[in-house]
Amino acid sequence: MGKVIVLGSANAVSDENHENAHLFLMTDKRNILIDCPGNPVVRIKKAGIKLNSITDLILTHFHPDHVSGLPLLLLDMWLLGRKAPLPIYGLTHTISRAKKMMDLFEWEKWPGFFDVEFISIDELPLQEVISDSELRLITSPVKHLLPTIGLRFEFKQNGVVFVYSSDTEPTETVVELANNADILIHEANGNSLGHSSREQCGEIASEAGVKNLYLIHYPTNIAPSVLIGEAQSTFSGPIYVCHDFMEIDLN
Ligand SMILES: [Zn+2]
Repeated sequence: MGKVIVLGSANAVSDENHENAHLFLMTDKRNILIDCPGNPVVRIKKAGIKLNSITDLILTHFHPDHVSGLPLLLLDMWLLGRKAPLPIYGLTHTISRAKKMMDLFEWEKWPGFFDVEFISIDELPLQEVISDSELRLITSPVKHLLPTIGLRFEFKQNGVVFVYSSDTEPTETVVELANNADILIHEANGNSLGHSSREQCGEIASEAGVKNLYLIHYPTNIAPSVLIGEAQSTFSGPIYVCHDFMEIDLN
């Protein structure tokens, strides 16, 4: 049915073993890239995925550690002969800036460039962005330093629910998005404006009735055992620390 591949697990300060947080969702029908920092092309190749098999791109918000790789991603897709259109989903705030970033590269002059379809999502709770025979994608605004969305994927055949908080402070919209989710990947940057501590990740997971909690977007100088220990103080279910190229089964 599907799996999530963690292409990067770090907060904004990456290191040689942890790229900035971004994810790849592989299903029967779609290959969805969620955010594209750094050089996503190399990470995607290392994960064994063909670049032009990507069907959709979701940008959660317009911070460099989530979108800086977009121009290179699109350039390399084109150089590798992409013909299929690419839908790019994001809030209006994100999409307008992504377009401006591409305009600086004068991408309209790239000959034979494939179609990019920008899809603006309203900054409102529980927006249905994708619905097909396989899955539903629902987004809600979360509480970060600029407009940002959290994502809820519901798989129609097996009922599995996977939720990604994106960058956020603890907020009721994530609890609502993550309601009874099988898997919640929550940012664990630490207790600061626009971010969450590991204890707060646990609180959100407990409140939402989540089955499995995965921590991502964490400071890479803190040992995974410490991160887990902090989240365990508020959540009694299984807790995992995402690492680069980790695969999470959605079956
Ligand atoms: Zn951010």
